[in-house]
Amino acid sequence: MSHERIHIRDVEHEGRTVDILTEGNRIAYLGEPLQQEAGLQICGKGKVVIPGLINLHNHAAMTLLRGCGDDMPLMQWLEKRIWPIEEHLTHDDVYWGAKLACIEMIRSGTTTFVDGYHHMPATANAVRETGMRAVLSCACFDHFDASEAETSKARIARLHAETDLACGRIAYAVAPHAIYTVSGATLQWINNYAAANNILIQLHLAETESEVAFSLKHFGCSPVRYLHSLGILSPRLLIAHGLYVDDEELALMADYGVSVSHNPASNMKLASGYAFRFVEMQRAGIRVGIGTDGCSSSNNLDMIEAMKLASLLGKAWRKDPEVLSAANVFAAATSQGADILGLPTGRIAEGCLADLVLIDVNQPAFTPNHNFVSNLVYAANGSCVDTVICNGRILMQNRTIEGEAEVIRRVSQCAERLMAFSK
Ligand SMILES: [Zn+2]
Repeated sequence: MSHERIHIRDVEHEGRTVDILTEGNRIAYLGEPLQQEAGLQICGKGKVVIPGLINLHNHAAMTLLRGCGDDMPLMQWLEKRIWPIEEHLTHDDVYWGAKLACIEMIRSGTTTFVDGYHHMPATANAVRETGMRAVLSCACFDHFDASEAETSKARIARLHAETDLACGRIAYAVAPHAIYTVSGATLQWINNYAAANNILIQLHLAETESEVAFSLKHFGCSPVRYLHSLGILSPRLLIAHGLYVDDEELALMADYGVSVSHNPASNMKLASGYAFRFVEMQRAGIRVGIGTDGCSSSNNLDMIEAMKLASLLGKAWRKDPEVLSAANVFAAATSQGADILGLPTGRIAEGCLADLVLIDVNQPAFTPNHNFVSNLVYAANGSCVDTVICNGRILMQNRTIEGEAEVIRRVSQCAERLMAFSK
């Protein structure tokens, strides 16, 4: 994909009107409006520019399972609906499902996501073609079985070798599913592998009370303490959920530089829990970002909705309206997420990656517009996104994405076939 020079004119940024120029995949200029045209023109009048949002936890191709097994507890949902269908997923299914996810994310202003799922090369193809940025993880299970563990390890190394990182928008990571589906020995192997290759590990952890009970019964301690005993807490570890952590565990996570993705929609819908300790984590120095989780548990991939849910949930369970501001969750969904991934994105500044989203403020949710971030987080949803640029390329303009109708048609066909395998 070639890079064009893009010149966004007269766009609002943090309360003033500016021009932005991209050069290659970076932001080259941010400042006073320029006299001359300096590249592909985008009119920013009536629009506010924000950094592309960062979805820190997703299983993109689960768009295929949207609406499948709603209103069920986590384990029942996984065992009766999700896992039986996933056994029959093909490369093609995942490709189309991931492509739909990319379109849905672009439409709602996300430019970067972290993913963990089966048939990862199919997701990589979808990311490459749609122009998004992603950290793609090889999903790993061993179910405490030695031969399954060996198969998983071989797959992690093979997919790593085969992943084409040449587009510069894809990073490789490993996603052991959870401590109740992956043995301690395999987790340690993954930790060593990740350290040797300097890649991220994402792991569902401390998601439900039943997981905590499993950990206490089988390992004699709570989930974070168990990881500590295995020696695998590190800055490379990104925990998804982290709902059940006490003060001592927070201190451990902070000491080892562990990061967390908060997925409010998934936690509420699966009734996993609600008392996510967002501000305690931040105060302890733990970096917290926001994710949607897969479409089968959050039902959409709208990060603007996810920010609102994170803020409202954080206030509600503490009965404290001051605890989690719109600005705080907006930072979590942009600059904090970028820092967790070690990427120079999530900010609008010269030298940063050109991952930019134009919000159309000519609509009810932004009227009056006393406080843009408040309106974005509390009043709007993904439909306010007008234009999306990722890595210096336009992925959507005037809410139009090429090829969308075909993707919708193909996903409907794949999903219909897969539903037959649901128990
Ligand atoms: Zn998940």
